[in-house]
Amino acid sequence: MSTLSIPRIIDVAEVFKENLTLDTAKNCFLVYFFAKRAFKLFQHARARGFIRSIKDLYLFIAQRTLRVVISLPSVRKKVETEIDAARALIDRQLLPQGKDVVRHLELPKQGCTLGWILDAMDQMDREAPSQTDYRDGKLSGAVYHGGDDMDKVLVAAFQRYCVSNPLHPDVFPAVRKMEAEIVAMCLRMYNNPTGAGATTSGGTESILMSVKTHRDWARAVKGISEPEMIVPASAHAAFDKAAAYFGIKLHSIPVDPETRQVNMKRVYRAINSNTIMVVGSAINFPDGCQDDIAGLGKLAKSYNIGLHVDCCLGSFIMPFLEKAGFSSEPFDFRVEGVTAISCDTHKYGFAPKGSSVIMYRSSDLRQYQYYVNPEWSGGVYASPGLAGSRSGALIAGTWAAMHYMGEEGYVESCRAIVGAAKIIEQTIQNTFPELYVLGKPPASVVAFGSRVPDLDILEVGDKMSKKGWHLNALQNPPGLHIACTRLTVSTAETFIRDLKEAIWEAKGSSAGKGTMVSLYGLGNSSPIGPEMVGVVISAFLDALYKA
Ligand SMILES: *Cc1c(COP(=O)(O)O)cnc(C)c1O
Repeated sequence: MSTLSIPRIIDVAEVFKENLTLDTAKNCFLVYFFAKRAFKLFQHARARGFIRSIKDLYLFIAQRTLRVVISLPSVRKKVETEIDAARALIDRQLLPQGKDVVRHLELPKQGCTLGWILDAMDQMDREAPSQTDYRDGKLSGAVYHGGDDMDKVLVAAFQRYCVSNPLHPDVFPAVRKMEAEIVAMCLRMYNNPTGAGATTSGGTESILMSVKTHRDWARAVKGISEPEMIVPASAHAAFDKAAAYFGIKLHSIPVDPETRQVNMKRVYRAINSNTIMVVGSAINFPDGCQDDIAGLGKLAKSYNIGLHVDCCLGSFIMPFLEKAGFSSEPFDFRVEGVTAISCDTHKYGFAPKGSSVIMYRSSDLRQYQYYVNPEWSGGVYASPGLAGSRSGALIAGTWAAMHYMGEEGYVESCRAIVGAAKIIEQTIQNTFPELYVLGKPPASVVAFGSRVPDLDILEVGDKMSKKGWHLNALQNPPGLHIACTRLTVSTAETFIRDLKEAIWEAKGSSAGKGTMVSLYGLGNSSPIGPEMVGVVISAFLDALYKA
């Protein structure tokens, strides 16, 4: 073999030497550049699939064309008028109106008394009364209430640790201990007592930290400099946010229309040498279903990539399903290949908002989350997560909530909440022929769509809004969901009754102009839809900061 191949190498070297001018070097570089581009395009198309790639191409061209059309002066004027109208509508709905509204736009010259402050808050509640009393139990998710007695526990913990700052553990040793214990308790709930974790400000930060950790791990251990991640289309938007913040290419993988689980063949096809991690949810936000975590674990293990299981919503429901008498598929660290799990203490853990836990299989992996700067002129600086200074009161509140509930308390709340969800699911399944339930939701969320052409599910959503319900609208396919909480447990029957009426009303009326129909109808109907929704939703964010 060697005697045959050596002359050939020499030949090639000779040819190179004779022809190695600046021009050939340039050509070589160009060929390399385009080959690399083509390979990336091929990998992209492979991950997306043929039909979706064609659709992507169509959308890309259609969007570019429409953008050009919109930039024509006459069209632009029209569009701007529409946007201004939308902006005005948002402001009217969100901001208190009228001459009597008191606005506090600059610091008072002298400090005010506590009595004055409480009066001013009363005044604000009167100026802009809430449309919804969350205690009515007509709110999907949003407020994960632990009960009135829990409110007292949280306030007591807050009061005691009001000024504490965990950035200084020597000053506040008890806060450090409580924080470590919150993480330890969660690790045991998710069956990884030898693992490691950290507290964060919420599910989004837990996910951001996990993605950053896997990116830095992959760079250090596998030399990956152009990271990619594989995320089910049903996963939380925080993964898209992480990809945008940290410069990671994201492959969004469709879910099976029947099971609502991520399509495993597609996940497999999207894996390449740049993949840092895959994601699965237990449970996901849109339809409350759970991905095939065991299957994802096998893939992650055999390709030595990370697997983040998002239990932000599943939080204190998933670990207690079996004990509460419901069936459960594997989702935690007992599944080989799972490298990280996010769990929101501020959802079904009933901790104060601003509290979540990110867990890793090992402390070796957690190292990649840390930020360390030994040379800062302000001293040696290190912090585990995004924040610098943080609130010790939130940690004390979380620790107190977990101890107030205890395992029995959480099992009991799991039984009540999932029980209510099952009643809603079964009633829709068995007695509403116009509707279908998305997948087989194992926990607290039930999502449903319309199976008949003369019923617009978003119109049903708008009718439900009129009856005081705050449900979540879903896209692709259009649907509604309710995330049951302790507050909705006692209103399940009312929900079913109202839903029946809403279907009847929606069937009788032509397409309305409710919020859901106008916002999501637009998003799906044209190539430019998402961009226009983006403009309107930015106006909404602007309005949040209008004093
Ligand atoms: C709520 C939620 C998150 C994180 O949301 P935060 O609002 O940042 O706490 C992540 N994933 C799922 C599935 C969720 O429901």
